[in-house]
Amino acid sequence: MNLYDRLAAGFPPDRNRPAFRLGDGSAVTYGALEASVGQVAGQLIAKEVRPGDRVALQAEKSVAGVTIYLATLKVGAVFLPLNAAYTPAEVDYFAADAEPALFITDAEAFVAEAASAAPLSSTVARAADDLAAIIYTSGTTGRSKGAMLSHGALAANAVALHEIWGFTPDDVLLHALPIFHVHGLFVALHCAFLSGAAMVWLPRFDDAQVLAGLAKSTVMMGVPTFYTRLLANPGFTRERAAHMRLFVCGSAPLLDSTFAEFEERTGQRILERYGMSEAVIITSNPLDGERIAGSVGYPLPGVELRIGGGGDTGVIEIRGPSVFSAYWRMPKKTAEEFTADGFFITGDVGRQDPDGRVWISGRAKDLIITGGYNVYPKEVELVLDALPGVTESAVIGAPHRDFGEGVLAVVIGQGDEAALIAACRERLAAYKAPKRIVFVDDLPRNAMGKVQKNLLRERYTDLFKVG
Ligand code: AMP
Repeated sequence: MNLYDRLAAGFPPDRNRPAFRLGDGSAVTYGALEASVGQVAGQLIAKEVRPGDRVALQAEKSVAGVTIYLATLKVGAVFLPLNAAYTPAEVDYFAADAEPALFITDAEAFVAEAASAAPLSSTVARAADDLAAIIYTSGTTGRSKGAMLSHGALAANAVALHEIWGFTPDDVLLHALPIFHVHGLFVALHCAFLSGAAMVWLPRFDDAQVLAGLAKSTVMMGVPTFYTRLLANPGFTRERAAHMRLFVCGSAPLLDSTFAEFEERTGQRILERYGMSEAVIITSNPLDGERIAGSVGYPLPGVELRIGGGGDTGVIEIRGPSVFSAYWRMPKKTAEEFTADGFFITGDVGRQDPDGRVWISGRAKDLIITGGYNVYPKEVELVLDALPGVTESAVIGAPHRDFGEGVLAVVIGQGDEAALIAACRERLAAYKAPKRIVFVDDLPRNAMGKVQKNLLRERYTDLFKVG
C-alpha cells in the first residue's frame, strides 16, 4: 500500500482539526492539507512526473514542503529532500546522481501554482518494496550515498514508533527540526500524521519560539543541541515543561550531563533513541520502562540487532523491515555494507546487555589506533566530561610520529592541560589518556548537531607531527 494512504488513514475524522499550528496564530487543518496534497499531486502529473521518477526539493522548511513530500508519495514518485545549505557544486552532484524529473526550489510558489491544477483524488498504488524516498547520507568521507527507502520500510518504522511512543490524537508535537533529514521528515511527521495529532510548526529552533510553543505542546523531538540550548535558557523552567509528556532525543549522542541536568530542571527524563538515514529509527529507550543516560535503549519491534566481530563491543549490525534496500546506483558499496545473511553493517560501534539494551560508543571510523592499541573515543570523552571545567569533549586521533595516531582531546571548557591529562591517567590506562588537550569555545557541528570529527582531524593534523 502507498505510504501516503497509510498516513492519511491516521488523519482525524474531523478534518477541521489542525495539522500545523503556525507562528502567526493561524493553522492549516488536515482538510486543507489533504486538498492541497491532491492539487499538488495533480500538478506533478501535469508536469509528467511518473511513478518512480525523482522529485527533488531544496528549499527552506515550510508546510508547502511537506505538501510536496506527501504529493510525491501520492503519485508514486520518489521524494529527494536536499539541505537548503548545500552549495551549487554539491547540488550538481545530487542532481547528476539522482536525475530528478523535477527540481523544486520554491515550495510555496509550486504549491500556489498547483491551486489551478486538476486535483488527483486517487492515490497511485505502490507495493511495499517500491521506492518512496532517497536520503543522501551526510557522509564525511567519500561520495555521499543515497539511501533508498521503500514505502514498506517507512510505514513499518512509522507504525512501530507511533505505537511504542504512545501517540494519540490529543498529542501536540513541537516540530522545530529540519525536513531534509529523516528525523524531522519521517520520524516526527509520520508520528503526528498516523495519530492525527497537531504540530506546533516552527521554521527552526529558536529559543523564544520553542519556549512559547512548549506551552501548547505535549511532545518534543530534538537533537542534543536543542536540549543544551533549552537548559541554557533560564526561561526553561519546571513549570514550562510540566504538561509535556515526552521529550525525545537523537541523531547525535546525548551527553550524560545534559540528561542529568534536564532531569534536575524538569523532573523528566529525556527519551533517547538511535537511528540513521539507512534505517530511520533502530532502537529506543522505553516510554514506560527505565530511560538510562548513555544508553539508546532496545531494538524496535521487528528489528534484529547484533554486535559483529565476536567481541562484547563491536560494530552494530541490523536486519528488519525498516532497513533501506540499497544505495542508489552503488551496487558495490551496497554489497560491502551488508553481511551474507542480510544484516546491514551500521558503522556504529556498541555493545548490548543480555536483556537487549544497546549502548553506543561511537563510529567505527573514529576508532583511534595508537601504538597498536585501540582507543574508543567515547570512553575517554566520558572521563573528560566528568572532570571539573569540562563542558564537552571530542576525542580524536591525530597523526603521530611514534604512535601512528596520538589521542587528542578537543575540549569546550577551561582548565590546566597537564592536570586534566593527569586526572585522565588516574582513571584510564595510560595509552587511552589524551597526549594533548586543546581548549575551544565550540565544536564544529552539522545541521543535526553532530560533532564533525573529520573537520577536527583536519584542523589538528599537524599537532603531533611537529612535536
Ligand atoms: P544520519 O544518517 O545523518 O541520521 O546519521 C546517523 C548516525 O548518527 C548514526 O549512525 C549514529 O552514528 C549517529 N546517531 C544517531 N542517533 C544517535 C544516538 N542516540 N546516539 C549516538 N549516535 C547517534
